[in-house]
Amino acid sequence: MAKLNENFLNLKKNYLFIEIGKRVKNYAEQNPDKPLIRMGIGDVTQPLAPIVVEAMKKACDEMAVKETFRGYEDSGAGYEFLRKAISEYYKSFGVDVSADIIRISDGAKSDCGNIVDIFGHGNTVLITDPAYPVYVDTNIMNGNKVIFADSNEENGFAAMPDENVKADLIYLCSPNNPTGSVYTKEQLEKWVAYALKNKAIIIYDTAYEAFISDPSIPRSIYAIDGAKKCAIEIASLSKKAGFTGVRCGYTVVPEELMVYAEDGSAHSVAQLWGRRQGSKFNGVSYPVQRGAEAVFTEEGLKQTNQAIEYYMENAKIMRETFDKLGIKYTGGHNSPYIWFKAPNNMDSWELFDYLIENIQVVGTPGAGFGKNGDGWFRLTAFGSKENTIEAMKRLEKLFS
Ligand code: PLP
Repeated sequence: MAKLNENFLNLKKNYLFIEIGKRVKNYAEQNPDKPLIRMGIGDVTQPLAPIVVEAMKKACDEMAVKETFRGYEDSGAGYEFLRKAISEYYKSFGVDVSADIIRISDGAKSDCGNIVDIFGHGNTVLITDPAYPVYVDTNIMNGNKVIFADSNEENGFAAMPDENVKADLIYLCSPNNPTGSVYTKEQLEKWVAYALKNKAIIIYDTAYEAFISDPSIPRSIYAIDGAKKCAIEIASLSKKAGFTGVRCGYTVVPEELMVYAEDGSAHSVAQLWGRRQGSKFNGVSYPVQRGAEAVFTEEGLKQTNQAIEYYMENAKIMRETFDKLGIKYTGGHNSPYIWFKAPNNMDSWELFDYLIENIQVVGTPGAGFGKNGDGWFRLTAFGSKENTIEAMKRLEKLFS
């Protein structure tokens, strides 16, 4: 008889996007004359940069010729041309990450989940709340003990370490999904100091790094002294370069990062991660890695930044509306997310229904990302400029 991993029974029903879909469908069926503006989407809408498309086409042509055809990539870590390009990119903002500590993946979501394989079940895993759901779910699936650090209005949705709480693994995400908040250098120094003191490991998700425009905000955890001894960094090209449907990301595991066995012996996290990936992952396709390489060229960064600027212009339009209305929010600077407080003490779902009913704008109720999200609401800057302007006009009229 096949036995279940009973940890799966402890997962919360993934009702957020299902429930949103249901309510949107109901409204659309009953009000076919009132089209909805979707401001809840977490997916990009701008097309790939031409330089990326050209690089992928060229790589496909190479695959069509016997002499240049490529099968499995030997190292399993991803092609050196891409790892070197990423290493150079880190250098461009003053962070030293060598090509040999980077492993290419099919995206940040998989790595955020898969990395848990190499850690024991006795760990206490600290997750900031609200959070991107994969952090919680993957640890529940593995039977790990999960505790939360509150990100809330008082701390600007940037939870900080508590010396009285002992954690072994810590998930941090900056710029944050869903709250759009960013950690400053000083705040990250506190997290790194906490991790070093407790021999804990930070899993740092930088999926939205490309949206940082303020030079004082770290683009990488390795901008912090000591981070290479206590942090893994997981990055994605999804939002940076419109790769949500192409699939490519990378994870950095420094050589000096150690994890401990019951007998106290230290083991290299990089080696364990290599072993895990070597056994369960056969790499990212050659054309995709060539496309990713093109992202990190000077021209590639210029082209992909155009899409980011487009989204950030939307974010600015949204910020200006909330400023005018005097509604509290985080995000919108260095982040494509605006996270705002539901007016008139509504809870997240009440506001969701209220916005659909009155102005036909769809967002994401904050409660779906954790308990501190209740009473808050997420809008994204990934839509079109026209829709963003129209949605903000309606919102302004509604709450003025
Ligand atoms: N991390 C965060 C915080 C995200 O919001 C997302 C996507 O929305 C991801 C990771 C997933 O990235 P990828 O598409 O590379 O799997």
